[in-house]
Amino acid sequence: MLAQRTFRATSTETSLLHLGIATLLAIFPSVQSAGAEPDTAGYWQQEVRYVIHASLDETNATLSGREAISYVNRSPDTLTSFFLHLYLNAFRPGSRWADRDSIEGSPRFNDLEDPDYAFERVSRIEVNGVAVAPEYPYAPDSTILRIALPEALVPEDSMNLSVQWQARPSTLPRRQGRRGRRYDFAQWYPRVVVYDRGGWQDHPLYPAGEFYGEFATYDVTFDVAEDQVVGSTGVPVEGDPGWERAKADPTLQIDYQRDWYTSLLPPPSPPGRREEGGCVGGEGGGPGRKCVRFYAEDVHHFAWSVNPEYVYEEGRFEDVVVRVLYLPGEQATWGDGVAVGRTIESLRWLKELFGPYPWPQLTNLHRIEGGGTEFPMVIMDGGASMGLILHETGHQYLMGILANNEWRHGFLDEGFSSFQGAWWGEEQTPGSDAYASLAASILQFDLDGWSEPINRRGEDFRDFATYGVMTYSKAQLFYFQLRYVLGRAVMRAVLREYYDRWKLKHVTPDALRDVAEDVSGMELGWLFDQWLNQTPLIDFAIGTVERRELPDGSWETSVEVLRKGDGWMPVEIGERDRPVIYARSTGLDRTETVTFRTAEKPGRLMLDPRVRSHDWNFTNNREAGLFDLADARYRLDTFVEEPAARDRRVLSIAPTLWWNDASDATVGVRVRQNYLGRFDKRTLWVGRGVSGVAQTTEGPLDFSFSWENPIFLRSDRASQLLEGWSRDGTVGARARFSRERRSSFTSPSRHRVGWMAQWVATRQTDFLDPALWDNGGTVELGRLDDWNLGALGARWKASADARAGVTYSRVGGRTGNAKPFLRVTATGSSRRPLGAFVLGTRFFAGAYVADDLPALQRAIPLNGADPYQTLENPFVRTQGALLVQEDLQYHSPGNGNLRGFRRGLGGRWVLAANIELERYLVRRPSGVVRSVVVVGFADGALVDTVAVRTFSGTAIKAVSDGGMGVRIGLHVGDLNFPLRIEFPFIVSDPRESYETIPGDNRLGFRWLISLQPIF
Ligand SMILES: [Zn+2]
Repeated sequence: MLAQRTFRATSTETSLLHLGIATLLAIFPSVQSAGAEPDTAGYWQQEVRYVIHASLDETNATLSGREAISYVNRSPDTLTSFFLHLYLNAFRPGSRWADRDSIEGSPRFNDLEDPDYAFERVSRIEVNGVAVAPEYPYAPDSTILRIALPEALVPEDSMNLSVQWQARPSTLPRRQGRRGRRYDFAQWYPRVVVYDRGGWQDHPLYPAGEFYGEFATYDVTFDVAEDQVVGSTGVPVEGDPGWERAKADPTLQIDYQRDWYTSLLPPPSPPGRREEGGCVGGEGGGPGRKCVRFYAEDVHHFAWSVNPEYVYEEGRFEDVVVRVLYLPGEQATWGDGVAVGRTIESLRWLKELFGPYPWPQLTNLHRIEGGGTEFPMVIMDGGASMGLILHETGHQYLMGILANNEWRHGFLDEGFSSFQGAWWGEEQTPGSDAYASLAASILQFDLDGWSEPINRRGEDFRDFATYGVMTYSKAQLFYFQLRYVLGRAVMRAVLREYYDRWKLKHVTPDALRDVAEDVSGMELGWLFDQWLNQTPLIDFAIGTVERRELPDGSWETSVEVLRKGDGWMPVEIGERDRPVIYARSTGLDRTETVTFRTAEKPGRLMLDPRVRSHDWNFTNNREAGLFDLADARYRLDTFVEEPAARDRRVLSIAPTLWWNDASDATVGVRVRQNYLGRFDKRTLWVGRGVSGVAQTTEGPLDFSFSWENPIFLRSDRASQLLEGWSRDGTVGARARFSRERRSSFTSPSRHRVGWMAQWVATRQTDFLDPALWDNGGTVELGRLDDWNLGALGARWKASADARAGVTYSRVGGRTGNAKPFLRVTATGSSRRPLGAFVLGTRFFAGAYVADDLPALQRAIPLNGADPYQTLENPFVRTQGALLVQEDLQYHSPGNGNLRGFRRGLGGRWVLAANIELERYLVRRPSGVVRSVVVVGFADGALVDTVAVRTFSGTAIKAVSDGGMGVRIGLHVGDLNFPLRIEFPFIVSDPRESYETIPGDNRLGFRWLISLQPIF
């Protein structure tokens, strides 16, 4: 809901670009960072070739495979062991993946039983014909298999492995999966672990973080049921993938590209030859079966999928054939060229951004799971939206061709692909701004202290959700910042050079940085380091501005840029009220003076007017005069919503009006403001009763002010409040500090700890209900605890409020009789589904401990809120207010919540329980009325006889009520609140009810309303 600044992107961008580059070039001399490789010299990668034969038996959902791996050691090291990934073993009980899911509260694969879980079992491995024993170094996880090599493999030497295995995908899909006759073989074969400059990358598979593989040649033969339709990495060099029968357009001439690799292909299988398993070349492995052989080069993974129902469509982008496989009935969403067209457009854009696609084809197929996953030449998508296709196709470049280690540097593929996708969106809609909303949302994570450095191993993030936000979204922001620093044209040049230099190789953050530095001539370590390895907060403030007219009539302006945050970015200096940028500061120094010349006198200045530096605090970015109100947006307050802006305060003003017995009408003005919806929330109200007591006896004006979360007190998950008032018969001041304890932003459980101090006193008792207020005041210090817990299938809330204080009385205008007291209340509640109903339960305990009876306003109330808890509400806090009328019972919830009883019943202690059974009649996601609920309720309490008298002489009194009600969930502006209309038909002590029923009958017609939830 953050407002976006509008500016004319086209004209500003261009001038900015030139200016920005010129400025930065002047600022950063072209210096290579020490030790950086200027190119790929010294880079090596292992040489791998797979020949795989795989037979799918659908009766037991098991694939039987054998593979021959030729491996050439191109590293400078001698290898004595060897590793294979067996990814499918992640999707079974006991794996690290399954355990991590369970720890994070999403037990999935640990709960699967045979035959639902996946497996990948190696039955035999030979190295150069010698059988070797597999080891599982991360047991019980078996996603990594290690063997000791019978003979060390010296540099440039080669070896041959042969592996036999059986594999089964899981019925619960995760990247891979099976459902009926559909199989998504995303992981399925023993895959060679990368050996790179960091050694063996033997890394078990976790939910956070994906894959890393050696570039290889794959020669793969599938032996599948005759009617299966196959989508796969590579080209079908022999056999029938089933597309002819599956094609949507009968006239389509399918381009199989069988001769794409002609010059490179091994000779076709000699006819008539039969290997064990009986499947060679295009000839079937038996009745009702067929063999299809796919071949691919320069890919580091090989994925395929079968489904006899697939519908086939085809298109082409230049030399690249686009194949789409979708499900029958999806013609509108996938068919008629929709998915083909979107895939082609993605390929076009990526070629423009990086360079030509190096492979023959791209297959976009509809997988079992939602979302999408990328593999070389194959994207498996749960839908056919442009955003998803563009993101996954982006991975053909960022992961497939520029092959990063996805579990170590996930931001090099995920955030990068999200960035290119957002850039495509900007190109489609000139002037659109993908950056603003992204930056604003990431800022909330930064300000709450949830951000973590994005350059870390997937499983090292706090949890899967943090991994996701950092690796996709905050990383995307990093690429935006890189583009901001470089300018768009240089960014494009960087991407092309990155591609030219590193295509079909393994890339690292340093590889990207070196290219960016080489192309731009800038030193960029500060940018990469801050955004990848730290979580800084950036805040710049404008200092002194001096304008000087030069003899030739031009102007020289000096601007002081003050760095207040721990992070820095180059900061643009422009006009506050027009889209003009004059200069950039480096942002590096604590105080930096930037001088620029202009032909005309510049107007009022502003730092970062385009909101690009991730500056979290824009309240100090504008040059302002004494009576200059331009740093805020002004609006007429609607009372039901309070918008926020990214780059300035929002100030909402409105007249107020309420009335009560003592002053008739009270008129006033309320001003409230906020920054980012969370900081510097200040409210000032001034007003005056137009007649009555207040007019004759009180000072000139009533007032109240509050200041919540001052910017200068910002710290992670902390909140502060200061307030004071003198209005409607009371005077007081309050300070509160609280901090939230929570293990993650996704955690359903949290604990807020607060401390408070307050003074509240009566000022003019004519305003106040004598049943609720004694003339006097209290000074209190207290601790407040709030818990939210998600456990045992329900949401639990609990709170505790413990205060020590002094109470005093005002009699005849004199203050005195100060006495200490302790006051403690505690509440716990939950709501949980119970069949077609929702069961709500609540417990309350409260006690006031002192030598004397409590002042009325500090007694523990039986009925609802205590008078201090309603001080905020002008329609409730005084006698004769809008909702405090003779024939109207308004219920302010709280404390004992015995709603059938009257206000003002309170004593030294209350022990209460409330039970509600709700049934939803209406539930809607939009509109003013969001829900209608009928509810039956019962409230019971044990209470001090000070509150409810007895004639039996006991010190404890049991009271109860019960009835029915209707609740209408309302949504107005930003506010969600219920309208409660309740009928407490039964009250145990009818004389203590707010509604006197003739004959002291316990049963009778009573009703109440409320605009606040009961609990
Ligand atoms: Zn992705």
